[in-house]
Amino acid sequence: MANLLDGAALARKLREAVRGEVASLAGSGRAPSLRVIIVGNDPASATYVASKQRAASEVGIEAATVPLPADTSPAALLAAVDRFNRDDAVDGLLVQLPLPKGHETRRVYDALAPEKDVDGFHPENVGLLHQGRPRFTPCTPAGILALLDEHRIALAGRRAVVIGRSDIVGKPMAALLTARDATVTLCHSKSRDLPSLCREADVLVAAIGRPGFVTADFVKPGAAVVDVGMNRLASLEEAPEHLRSSATLRAALTTRGRALVGDVDYDAVSKTAGWISPVPGGVGPLTVAMLLKNTIHAARLRRG
Ligand code: NAP
Repeated sequence: MANLLDGAALARKLREAVRGEVASLAGSGRAPSLRVIIVGNDPASATYVASKQRAASEVGIEAATVPLPADTSPAALLAAVDRFNRDDAVDGLLVQLPLPKGHETRRVYDALAPEKDVDGFHPENVGLLHQGRPRFTPCTPAGILALLDEHRIALAGRRAVVIGRSDIVGKPMAALLTARDATVTLCHSKSRDLPSLCREADVLVAAIGRPGFVTADFVKPGAAVVDVGMNRLASLEEAPEHLRSSATLRAALTTRGRALVGDVDYDAVSKTAGWISPVPGGVGPLTVAMLLKNTIHAARLRRG
């Protein structure tokens, strides 16, 4: 059986370190501050925002969620971003994604003050990352790198395959792995013969948004497999056929009426992989921990 890439345990360690740094910043002036804008009532987004707010408050960051109604116009959202950009008491600012229809996500990236952009999505921060001199590293890929490092998974000279080329996970993940001297293949929905591309990977990162998509035939024996997917299922019928016999999935659906499932078929892949991250308890908690680290970094940058 594969060894566990335990994101929850690492996230606890990182949060403790952050708590100390927040206390020292607070002692020399004021605590770092974070604003999280959320537009509309998407239940998954509301859960993520609540966990960001809770984690930030728990370590002493002065955090507030800014809920905007679902019918907020693009201009009104940009005006809210501008207001927090100008607010000297705010160190870090993010807008929870996805946005309701009618908003152009990239216009929001463009509108964020680069020095407060704790998600690292502003084009200036994306450029700095790709040049290998990051200011804010996007939280999910930063968390994945920390997880691989924590478990001493070698990267230099090794083959890494990332499935998914989103601005928030796949592309920055590929840039970070490249900067660490891995030989990187970035795959997407038009990639041909995905299983054989993936079988070349010593490190395989799946960020697709399809439950159990990565099966054992995608995985080289002994590879490290990181599962970024967060797929919410409310019934067995929503799961692909090959996941329906999973005892974990059935138990979650029976006890809670819903289940959170990754992009990797955990039961099958854990028999082939050398390392594997679970869902939940893998990448998710690290994304939040990295947001806290980026908020401290923003506070330090802004205070010189
Ligand atoms: P996204 O923007 O929807 O992008 C999905 C990517 O997967 C796209 O590049 C798409 O290719 C590719 N893809 C879709 N179907 C594919 C297929 N059959 N074969 C190969 N590639 C395929 O998703 P995202 O925002 O990156 O998120 C991905 C997953 O990670 C979601 O489940 C999301 O909830 C989860 N997530 C988790 C965290 C966390 O903290 N754990 C953070 C962010 C996201 P094309 O570009 O060709 O369309």
